[in-house]
Amino acid sequence: MGSYKIAIIEGDGIGKEVMAQALRILRELEQLEPEISFQLEQLDWSSDYYLEHGRMMPENWRDILMPQDAILFGAIGDARVKDEVTIWELIMPIRKEFRQYINYRPVQSLPNIASPLEDKTGINFSIFRENAEGEYSNSGGRMFKGESSEMAIQNTIMTRKGIERITRAAGEYARKHGKCKVTSATKSNAIIHTNTLWDECVERVMREEFPELELESYYIDALAAYFVQRPKSFEVVLASNLFGDILSDLGSGIVGGLGLSPSGNINPEKDYPSMFEPVHGSAPDIAGLGIANPIAQIWSAALLLEHIGETEVAGKVINAIQAVLEENRVLTKDIGGQATTEEMGTAIIEKLNAQY
Ligand code: ATP
Ligand code: MG
Repeated sequence: MGSYKIAIIEGDGIGKEVMAQALRILRELEQLEPEISFQLEQLDWSSDYYLEHGRMMPENWRDILMPQDAILFGAIGDARVKDEVTIWELIMPIRKEFRQYINYRPVQSLPNIASPLEDKTGINFSIFRENAEGEYSNSGGRMFKGESSEMAIQNTIMTRKGIERITRAAGEYARKHGKCKVTSATKSNAIIHTNTLWDECVERVMREEFPELELESYYIDALAAYFVQRPKSFEVVLASNLFGDILSDLGSGIVGGLGLSPSGNINPEKDYPSMFEPVHGSAPDIAGLGIANPIAQIWSAALLLEHIGETEVAGKVINAIQAVLEENRVLTKDIGGQATTEEMGTAIIEKLNAQY
């Protein structure tokens, strides 16, 4: 219970539309929970901002974000600005400099949501993706451009410290939430330097610090198949940056799609603010139409509430989302309905009120 400072970066396209609904939820919670209040710092960092200022964020962005308890982010992406700029000048600096080394993604079956799986109920696991190193490094380069000998090298950087801390985060989450098993994704049979270090560090941390938890380890190719064949067998999945990225979208795909999937970029030590965002992008194809599904954004706000310690309130927001889907009446286009973004927001607010 308390007063929380939250930075709001709605970004581009549908980011603005879905964020408006998440903000309605936060305002509603202030009414429903007299002891909770939010100081929202709304920041217009976006592609428009870039076109005007020549940068995605002001120079003092760290000073603006540091005092915040958390950051709620919408989506970024615009045809007028290169992806390298939007990603490497906004999302990446925040993730890296604020040591948000966990990318957390819950994967959960939701009522009445179409899935490519025949048996789609009862899926409930969490992915811990390493978010600060690994395959997504800038190190490398291209040689002999245009010649027949042209080549490119991209280095993967994995450190003992980096692997140990993401493993610890997964283990601690499993312990806290009463899970019994952690599943590690690897490819140490083919990627023999970085992935053997991964296996060794994961194995040691799990054995020494979480002896009560079972550790299983699968090659990423096999694990991708198991995600489809027996997704209910997973509880906590631990993966490198690239493997975790792919598994996260696969996880999102088997339970119903982008409009429903939240994520957190988390600094568990809380020495820097963490950032919560929907998995989807700015969706230029539907931007401005008012038909985007706000659930992923609202669920991301719930993950934020959980992170700042408001676990019970976060649970109520997630219950409200589930109650709307359970009722199967108000549905946006992506999940087979006609409702607008705002109507979905209103329906979730109603279900939230019903819990008080
Ligand atoms: P970006 O470059 O910003 O990542 P993108 O086009 O690569 O954008 P998304 O924005 O994630 O990827 O969109 C992928 C597809 O999913 C699009 O067809 C989009 O309309 C749809 N989509 C994404 N998010 C939502 C949502 N919240 N509600 C409805 N449809 C969505
Ligand atoms: Mg995208």
